[in-house]
Amino acid sequence: MKPRILIVYTGGTIGMIEDPEKKSLKPFDFSHLMDNVPKVKMLDYVIDNIQFHPPIDSSDMNISHWQTMVRSIAENYDDYDGFVVLHGTDTMAYTASALSFMLQNLGKPVIITGSQLPIGEVRTDGEENLITALQIAASRDSDGRPTVREVAILFENYLWRGNRSTKRSADNFNAFRSNNYPELAKIGLGIQFKRASLGNKRVEGPLEVYPDMDTNVLAIDLFPGLNPRVFNHMLATPGVKGIVLRTYGTGNGPTEAWFLDALRRTVDSGVLIVNVTQCVNGGVHPNRYLAGDLLSEAGVISGYDITFEAAIAKMMHLFGRGFGVDEVRARFGESIAGEISVNDGK
Ligand code: ASP
Repeated sequence: MKPRILIVYTGGTIGMIEDPEKKSLKPFDFSHLMDNVPKVKMLDYVIDNIQFHPPIDSSDMNISHWQTMVRSIAENYDDYDGFVVLHGTDTMAYTASALSFMLQNLGKPVIITGSQLPIGEVRTDGEENLITALQIAASRDSDGRPTVREVAILFENYLWRGNRSTKRSADNFNAFRSNNYPELAKIGLGIQFKRASLGNKRVEGPLEVYPDMDTNVLAIDLFPGLNPRVFNHMLATPGVKGIVLRTYGTGNGPTEAWFLDALRRTVDSGVLIVNVTQCVNGGVHPNRYLAGDLLSEAGVISGYDITFEAAIAKMMHLFGRGFGVDEVRARFGESIAGEISVNDGK
């Protein structure tokens, strides 16, 4: 039996061409992309595709695009062995995080990839990324189960857990990294899967699809000199249900009363505030310093070692499921899809 793979083409540099007048890159159609990768035929897979009309620069990504991807995968879930999503790199980590929460009890690979150089360019990284992503999506273990049973990002030399990934370079071919979780596979002469880091939960029962995302969320970055008036204004944004607060180091912030009082008032009004570190590596240890401890006392909860991208997506997902703030607070402390290292069931 030939592996059956569904490609969902959303756009991104991989399929872009140069606009003849402006000389800037713009998304282009899927047949152009495939014409430039004749080697795909050597894989001897059954490959079908679903395309975005029009394909987009991933800077235009929004909730409805995520829902289209989720629908494309869910409706075709039983008919394919794996799924490859072609996507721009700019918001790839957000999409990977969102899909990991929107598609739960996943028993098949959803591999997201793209490229730094368009597929039509001589030195493109797109051809290799696409072919490797297809091979990973088709890979099976000796017991017949798909090797990867989660949402992952394949880029250049690594396969990363999607909701642990961050775009780390605007120029480098190795554009992604997971700073708090090891790679799922190393790509060199061969594809070397890392069994210890791949999700290995037994998947029983059907795919669970959660298409609704609540966008009433906000992110605030701390920096020295933060103006109390500006900060209070952001906290008081009408309709906001949850805020990702990007703090210093292990989850520290100012110890001044105006700051802590503002947080306490906001939490008491029923808004969830999650503490996520600005550091690229490591996580929040709220009680290590008084400056972090006081945030906890004000009602700010720890995001542990979650990425910013995953924190935003998790918040949208949990409020999108209609949970009240107490339920969302409780679930933030649990791993849903391997996005944090505490209570990680994977
Ligand atoms: N701006 C592009 C996008 O995210 C960048 C890329 O694909 O690498 O769609």
